[in-house]
Order: sequence, then C-alpha cells, then structure tokens
Amino acid sequence: MKELVERELGIQVTEIKELNGYSNKNYLIKSNNESYIFKTYPFHQETFSFIEAENRTLLFLSQNPNSLTPNPVLFKDGTYVKKMHYKEEFLIGRSLSFLKGEFLADVNPSEKLVQSLGFFLAKMDLELEKFDDFVIKSRQCEWDIQHLLLNEKYIEDIPDPKDRNIVRYFFKQYEEHVGPVVHGLRKSLIHSDANEWNILVKNDEIAGIIDFGDMAYSPLINELATAMAYMCYDKDDLFAFALPLIKAYNKVLPLQKKEIDIIYYLMTAKLCISVCQSAHAKKMDPDNTYASVSEKNAWRMLYAMLKINPLLVENTFLKELGFQVPSPEPAGIKLEQRQRFVSKILSVSYDEPISMVKCAFQYMYDAYGNTYLDAYNNIPHVGHSHPKVVAAGQRQMAQLNTNTRYLYDALPEYAEQLLSKFPTQLNKVFFVNSGSEANDLAIRMAKIHTGYDKIMVMEHGYHGHTQTGIDISDYKFNHPKGQGKRNHILKTAIPNAYGGKYTGPECGPLFAQDAIEQINTSQGGIAAFICEPIVGCGGQIPLAEGYLAPVYDAIRTQKGVCISDEVQTGFGRLGDVFWGFEQHKVVPDIVVIGKPMGNGHPMGAVITTSEISESFEQGVEFFSSFGGNPVSCAIGKAVLDVVETENLQENAKVTGDYYKSLFMELQKNYPSIGDVRGSGLFLGIELIDESAQPNTELAQLIKNELRKRHILISTDGPFDNVIKTKPPLVFTKENALRVVEEIGRVISRKIK
Ligand code: PMP
Repeated sequence: MKELVERELGIQVTEIKELNGYSNKNYLIKSNNESYIFKTYPFHQETFSFIEAENRTLLFLSQNPNSLTPNPVLFKDGTYVKKMHYKEEFLIGRSLSFLKGEFLADVNPSEKLVQSLGFFLAKMDLELEKFDDFVIKSRQCEWDIQHLLLNEKYIEDIPDPKDRNIVRYFFKQYEEHVGPVVHGLRKSLIHSDANEWNILVKNDEIAGIIDFGDMAYSPLINELATAMAYMCYDKDDLFAFALPLIKAYNKVLPLQKKEIDIIYYLMTAKLCISVCQSAHAKKMDPDNTYASVSEKNAWRMLYAMLKINPLLVENTFLKELGFQVPSPEPAGIKLEQRQRFVSKILSVSYDEPISMVKCAFQYMYDAYGNTYLDAYNNIPHVGHSHPKVVAAGQRQMAQLNTNTRYLYDALPEYAEQLLSKFPTQLNKVFFVNSGSEANDLAIRMAKIHTGYDKIMVMEHGYHGHTQTGIDISDYKFNHPKGQGKRNHILKTAIPNAYGGKYTGPECGPLFAQDAIEQINTSQGGIAAFICEPIVGCGGQIPLAEGYLAPVYDAIRTQKGVCISDEVQTGFGRLGDVFWGFEQHKVVPDIVVIGKPMGNGHPMGAVITTSEISESFEQGVEFFSSFGGNPVSCAIGKAVLDVVETENLQENAKVTGDYYKSLFMELQKNYPSIGDVRGSGLFLGIELIDESAQPNTELAQLIKNELRKRHILISTDGPFDNVIKTKPPLVFTKENALRVVEEIGRVISRKIK
C-alpha cells in the first residue's frame, strides 16, 4: 500500500497506519510535515460516481474558509479519484487532507460544545443549500432516514425477538407519523451522519466534520435528527443535550413546526437504521467490530425512548423554540364531553381520570406528555401496539374480512393452532367476540348437553355482562344494586386459603367437601359448575390447592359439566402453565377464553369436547357475525406466535417470580401487607389494618399515589383492599422493581 500511495501521490511516505472503516479501508499517511487520509473502496462504477460527487461537494464547501471539512488532494496525474490495481483487485483510491482534533466520542461534551455543534451543522447546511448534485440526488442510501424502510430486510438479522419488535414498533411509528408528511418537508443535500466519530473537537469547539459517505438529498431536518440521536444516545438525560443542540441550530437555520413535530420519530428511525445495519454487518462478517461501534448505545436509547412520551419531546422542543403549543383540554372537561353522549354508568379509573393518546408495549402515554408504566392491563397481553399484532390485523383487513359462511384458510389454521394448546379431548372451538359472549354460549351448551338447568357458581365470581353473565356472576347479582341470586343458581364458597373459613395446607379439600355436600343435596341436576382458576373480582384469589379436582368429580358424577373461565388466567400469564386449570391437574369439559386472545381486538371463544359440540349441533344453528372472522383469526394467530417466539410465558414466570419475591420482602417490613398471592404476572396484594381487617383506605391511597407517580395498578376484592397487578407480559424486572419500590414509599410515608 505504501508503494501504491507513493507512486500515485508522488510523495515520500514516512508512516502509514490503517484506520477503522465501516466497509472500506482507510489509511493515515504521513509525509514530511503533511498528513493525509488515503481511502480505498472495492471498485463499483456506482461507488466511483458517488465519490466523485462527494469530492465535488467537499471542493464546494472548501471555498468557504471556515468550512472545517477535508479537502480532496490531487493524485500525480491530476485526478481526485482513481481506479487502481492492487493485489489482483481493482480499488477506488482517493486522498483527503487530514483534519486535526479529538473525536467528539472521546470527550465529555460541555453545553458550550453541544451548542457549537448546533451552530456548526446549521452553517454547513446553509452552505449545502446552495449546492446541487444530481448523482447525490439520485442515490438511495440505506443510512438516509427517509429510506428507513430499505432496512426492513435486516430486521430478521437482529438475534433477539424482543429487540426485533422494538425496531418493528418504531418502523411502524415512522410510517404512521412521518410517512404522511415527509413529502411536504423542505429537502437539501445533507451530511446525514453527524455521529461522534465523525465530529472533531478542539478547545471545546467543533474543529471539523469528516466522512461525507452518507451524504443524501433528504429532508433537511434529518441532519439535525441524526446529530441529536448520536449526541444523546449514550446520555441519561435526553433534554440536557438535545435542547442546546436544537436551539443553537435553530438560531442559525430556523426550523419549521412540521419539522419539529416529527423529530422523535426521526431520531428513533436513525437509531433503528443503526441497529439494523449493525446486525446485518455482524451477520455478514462476525469479526467486523467497527460495524457495531454504535450498536450498544443505539439499543440503549431505543429502549429509553419507549419510556418518553413522544408528545413531551414534541412540545418541549416547540416551546423552547418559541412556537405556540396548544394545551390539551383538562381531563375533567373531556369527561364532561364524554358524558354528554355516553352514559355515566361507564365508570372511569381514578379520582382524576387519565386522558390517554398512545401506547407502546408496557407504556401508555397521556395527552399531557406523561408516560405511565402499565402494571395493570392484562388485555394487551403481548404489549400495547405490538407491531406484529398490528401488522397482522392491518394486512388481513386490507385483504379479506367476512364471516364464517364462506371458506377461508385463516379459520381452520388458527383453530388448529389454538386447539394445539389444549389437552387433546378439548378439540372443538366456537369463536365469538368477548368473554361475556363466550360464557353465555358455554352455559347454553352445558344446558343443552346435560338437559339440566341449574348452574353452580363461585362466590365473588365474574363472568360477563350479558343476562346469563349476570345470572352466574355473584360479583354482579350480589351487589347492593344487583338483581339478586336467581333460583337456578347454586352459589358455593370461594376456597380462599387466606382468611377463608378454612386455612392451612388441608383447606382445599375441606372447601371441596362443603361444595360436594351442596352438589349432592341439590334439588335437580346441575348442568355446569363454572369458576375461574384465580378469582379476579374476589381479590385475585387462587383456588386453594386440592379443591378443584374433587369438585369436578362430584359435578361429573351427577352428569354435569365443568367450565373453566380462563378469560383472565389464560395464554401463559400464570408463568408455569398456559391455562389456569393445569395448576389444579384437571381437564375441564368447557374452557372459556377472551381478553388477551386478541391483544385488545375483541375476541372470545368456547373450547369444548366433540361430545358437547355434537349435542349442541342438534339444536338451532349457531352463528356470530364477527366471531372467527379472518381479521380476528389473523390477530389471534399473531398473538399466539408472539407468545411463543418471544418466550412470554417464560418471562411471566421469571419476572413474575421476581415481582412476587419483591412484594414478599416488602411484606416482611410492613404488617399492613396481609397476603401476597397469585402466580406469574397475575398477582394480588391484600392490605389489612392493625386488627387484620381489610384496609380499603390504604389500598386506594396506594392506587392513587401510584397514578401520580405514573404507574398504573388497580384494586379489587369485595372490600376493594387488594392491589391487582397483571401487566402486559413484556414487563421487565426493572419495571417490577419500580412498582414495588414506589408502593414501599407510599406505605412507609403513610405509616410515619
Ligand atoms: N370472565 C372473566 C373472568 C372476566 O374477568 C371478564 C371480564 N372482566 C369476563 C368474563 C367478561 O369478558 P368481556 O368483558 O370480554 O365480556
């Protein structure tokens, strides 16, 4: 290489050192008192043309004496770029003047330095606005934010499925938020890669910018968004660095509102490009360490960005740059508006309701810029706005959506996949649109199959809002304003090992004996016994061990059927099992599912045996307009796939065990925590007072205080003194720790 450089440049090389490069080889060349950068690239005509264009840009910029950009250096033959023969290969060679300074990556940037970068980039962009080049204009660079989608093909190269989904989520956000406005943004030639290894620094000032290899004709704002992403991606406080940068840039080159509105999504897009490119480069060449120099920080920041409400970023930037930010209406007014048209019987959470606008995985964003950690909602089972679920629904909606009177493959395919999660005798599925509807149907089937009318239900149980649902839900019919228990309903005690009639390890069979006694003395046959494996409205109460199997036996002996309502407990939430009934070593005759099934898309189903299904077939036709439609099937399938590929049942187990252990530690310090129960990511924490009575006041205080600290949990149980936490299964140990620490703080303050 030394000989080649000496020959082509006509200089005496005193030192030659190879430098890091993404896909090309670069050398630092010293000759007497001069230093040069000699760059080589594998020969492609397209690369050649682009490097010529890059040089044209550098020559243009160098006309300004303050440009601080490298100058192209002529070869002996009077050219700036040359095709060269080297070691049996053709290379492209070019030389640039060497700029002195430290890399921004190697300094701890002061606010002044960050501002200096803002001024510098804006000035460079003002110069570039005057320059035009058709080669650059016609190029599509994968690193250019506007071509984010070119990187979609590399998502599969990211090894961890969870990481892949974060990237998919931000791709989707780019499409939604930037896609519709991108064509209205002003465009210019931009450097497009102001990262910390391309910026040189001297005496707390910017001393230069190198590597114009990603230059693009792109929305101007992408220049700043790129610099902001790289400036902030290894820092804890986004605004501490982003604000001085954007303000300085804006002083020299004023930004437009529509540009500021989307910076959050442009920054995350650049970070996505970085992780996609790193993953791909690593796959192609596992030894290329330079290709992943930014990767760790980019991942760190992508995860950190999820915790920041995009509105907060948008509004903070707008305000700081002097734009008017409309203040959203207070939640109280929004509630009034709602109640003008919608009945007050629909209650809202919290004394001060939350106006939500957006969500991502385990985070929810309100209209005021706050981010809530969702430790409560179990419907977005695999995470809010999960990109795979969203994509499955959108794709199918654009393709075909109809009802079960036509043949389409999605129905049997999803049915087969869902049934594969059940014991073999549960081999028929009926799709409906909610848990209530599914329970209603299950009861109808049980009555038709057995010819009996009576239904045995559990104290505090809840199964739905239809008439049958209310009839079988003690939580509703036994409410002071409820309809009361109907004659055909037989209510049995909740087998609660904490504070119930029986306690201790043998309490399950004792509760069972009482229930069996009721069954055996019932006047007329019992068509079905229905209960949840963990009674949600009862206060997250797991059925005591040893209870369910003997009760199921007694029901079957008198020819009734056993129904497990898995609307809340199903799909792996409990960690050690996929369905709650598995914890009790029983197989029900009918299983009812809902809530998490569609991750928020309205779905429910009844799963049963062929015998019960055949009895049902003797009656009138069953048809549900929406049940089992292609869109629902596609969404349901995506949910099952995600639970599997992201090992979410395993995460429910590992994170849930840790979460529970933290609560149990807390219990050791605070006697007001009477019980910690449940499994996986389905936990209940019962609060009591000094005389071991339900402490509703403390439970409500915790719920409302956590809301102020931007954590969502809720309370339940007949005395509303049980904290319930059933977060999306992507919940992390870090999330769990935060919830328990905050609860600890509220309790300790209350006690002091
Ligand atoms: N069963 C159980 C155990 C439930 O928790 C619920 C809803 N809370 C239902 C049934 C009713 O489901 P849906 O609201 O989808 O009608």
